[in-house]
Amino acid sequence: MKITRVSATPLNLPVSVSISGRTKTTSLSVCLVDIETDTGLTGTGMTAITEEEVIGSIVNDIVAPHLIGLDPMRHEQLWDKLYWLLTPRGQSGYASHAIAALDLALWDLKGKALGQPCWRLLGGARNQVPVYATFGFAFFDREELAEAAKSWVARGFKRLKMTVGHHGLQRRDEPRPLDELIAEDVQRIRAVREAVGPEVQIYIDANCSLDYFHALQLAQRVEPYGISFFEEPVSHNDIPNLVQLRSKTSIPLAAGQNEGLASRFRDMLVAGAVDVVQPNACISGGFTQSQRIAGMASAFNTRFANGGAWPHHNMHLHGGLANGSLVEYHSVAVQCCKLVFDGLPEPEAGVLTLPEAPGLGFTPNRERIAELALRPLSRGAGKA
Ligand SMILES: [Mg+2]
Repeated sequence: MKITRVSATPLNLPVSVSISGRTKTTSLSVCLVDIETDTGLTGTGMTAITEEEVIGSIVNDIVAPHLIGLDPMRHEQLWDKLYWLLTPRGQSGYASHAIAALDLALWDLKGKALGQPCWRLLGGARNQVPVYATFGFAFFDREELAEAAKSWVARGFKRLKMTVGHHGLQRRDEPRPLDELIAEDVQRIRAVREAVGPEVQIYIDANCSLDYFHALQLAQRVEPYGISFFEEPVSHNDIPNLVQLRSKTSIPLAAGQNEGLASRFRDMLVAGAVDVVQPNACISGGFTQSQRIAGMASAFNTRFANGGAWPHHNMHLHGGLANGSLVEYHSVAVQCCKLVFDGLPEPEAGVLTLPEAPGLGFTPNRERIAELALRPLSRGAGKA
């Protein structure tokens, strides 16, 4: 089997969330990558939480000519080639997103060629994975947030994640000080805890939007509400800050969804910076690099879970590997996937059952993708 064509389709996908009869609209950018072969089989990968048109250009203009004619089954050879092509001095950034999408396309192709789902090729540890629902977005006010939390629990989800920090450091040119924002976050978390009762697990995610001081303030003030982990509490996952924060709060810390280099995870693990490492298959170099990171987590007896959404890709990693665990059922990202793919599994009672169909087990809807590709691109505005 030989690669005959490599192409990317950047998309800015419209999504809407309704609560209390009101509808909030937003968008998310993703980039799909297709790898076609001389056998007629095509693999499709994906990345997100980045500038979709940059990834489109990397794949179409830089990568494609380097992969034509190569054997797509040799994922280690191709991953290494992509690493040295796009990341020769360890600069990561957009490159790891592009490599992730290409690597997922190769694994989808491998599964189709071998007649096996990716999760089984990755090791087949289990055919079901527990999920947590990411439901609590900044565009909800406090009452809407509490109501949304209750509705997810009523749908069978016992694990819920909400955002905090609301891009705090990005808004320092606004007059609202960060301590006001933290005070409101404390009230929002309290409202959710009171709405769902003591049995539901609540996770919080600051998306790298706080400095150390405010992350510590928030952690200490919400400890009484029973937080199961605090994800990306500080800007750029600063390792010394994480180590210090972890020593001052009983809330477990999680990070890693946007890291491109495996060595960043090694550094977090060696420093004891986090309780949970979260490589994302769609961002952290695909299944190939994420399984190396999961191996390091195992050696350090540190939890490994999914952050950064895209459950339908990450479920294969967490189903495949023995130390796989929670998968993030991010409600906005799931809506995006439903626009683009057919045959996605639905969680039942907070559990996703992995597909038996070969490869990733779901299918791009080409007609709908062609329509969505006509929409204007996000120009940096379509990030989760
Ligand atoms: Mg996150």
